[in-house]
Amino acid sequence: APAPPPARHLFSEPAEVEALRGNLLAWYDRCKRDLPWRALAAMEPDADRRGYAVWVSEIMLQQTQVATVIDYYNRWMQKWPTLQDLAQASLEEVNELWAGLGYYSRGKRLQEAARKVVSELAGQMPRTAEDLQKLLPGVGRYTAGAIASISYRQATGVVDGNVIRVLCRLRCIGADSSSPAVIDRLWDMANVLVDRSRPGDFNQALMELGATVCVPKAPLCGECPVKQHCQAWRRKLFGNPHPVPDVEDCGVGDCPLCPPATEPWDSSLGVTNFPRKAAKKPPRVMRTATCVLERRGCHGAPEYLIVQRPSSGLLAGLWEFPSLPLAQDLQEEKEREELADHLQARMGQPVAAKGLQFIGEVIHIFSHIHQTYVVYSLHLDGDVTLDPALSPSRWVTEDEFHASAVSTAMKKV
Ligand code: SF4
Repeated sequence: APAPPPARHLFSEPAEVEALRGNLLAWYDRCKRDLPWRALAAMEPDADRRGYAVWVSEIMLQQTQVATVIDYYNRWMQKWPTLQDLAQASLEEVNELWAGLGYYSRGKRLQEAARKVVSELAGQMPRTAEDLQKLLPGVGRYTAGAIASISYRQATGVVDGNVIRVLCRLRCIGADSSSPAVIDRLWDMANVLVDRSRPGDFNQALMELGATVCVPKAPLCGECPVKQHCQAWRRKLFGNPHPVPDVEDCGVGDCPLCPPATEPWDSSLGVTNFPRKAAKKPPRVMRTATCVLERRGCHGAPEYLIVQRPSSGLLAGLWEFPSLPLAQDLQEEKEREELADHLQARMGQPVAAKGLQFIGEVIHIFSHIHQTYVVYSLHLDGDVTLDPALSPSRWVTEDEFHASAVSTAMKKV
């Protein structure tokens, strides 16, 4: 079994844990932001509806800012106020509402899981973090803990990006915060700290602290309700309490939770010495040719052809202008020819490369892909349909385009 971590990285004093809980909850009661899912979770007497309301918010908030989520959340809950409503929706409707929120598989999996709860669990949400994670597709350890603690008052901790930052600073954890060894310790710590009578509020308070006070770049330590428990803050103010490595403390440089000996504390960074992460892999660079095909609709307004992407993979099931991934380092002329060939194969009629008008380039950053769309346009006189065996397609007006399940990248195009 691995050796227990040195005491400085733990919360081992019950009195300190009590004090930290009290300070954090008092601050949360005073300062928490009014957010629609919090209001719903607090007012909703029905346990399944409460769990559903929290679940939707947690899925939307993964990788997405609170300010962006609010409007989507309100529209979603208006359209599908219960699990049963969501289970009856079509994937197309889900994608339409989700359009612009990013990471589209989240919406799809949420709906699949809602169908599962209705058809296999008699419409009843699982009540514990363990069951939520085991039974609901797309619900990982964090989301399960959040739903169980906020909706069902289970005394279980949560660890997300905000919690990682706060805990690493509170306990001077400077080893790679994405490593399994550190993540396991943080989960242990979150489970020790969580308040037994108000677990949902405590977890939200810890995340709120990370989102509004203990922020990544310029934390507001002077206003922090737990600064008296924070070792990073103490170290910034008073220096290292153990300038000489102490065997009782973290050994002589081989502590699994301390910063690596090769990158010790940098006093110019202060508390932002923590957390530390291994360098990220650079994003994949991709180039895609895309063609805005335009015709006059029957009322004279321009219409555009959109096609549906495959039902799995990046942007699954969303609609886009006909597009073709390109090899790197192609000459412009060659790119144009390849796009013309692609359109010709799908439309079953000749498309001259020189008829494609180059419009410009659009860059869009997905989480792991640096995508450049090379945009062309082509005006058509007659009616054109793409081979439906290849992918569904339809003509839309500009308004219809914006109401369709299209990605932010395509809206930029
Ligand atoms: Fe974060 Fe500063 Fe508070 Fe420590 S004192 S938890 S570093 S905001």
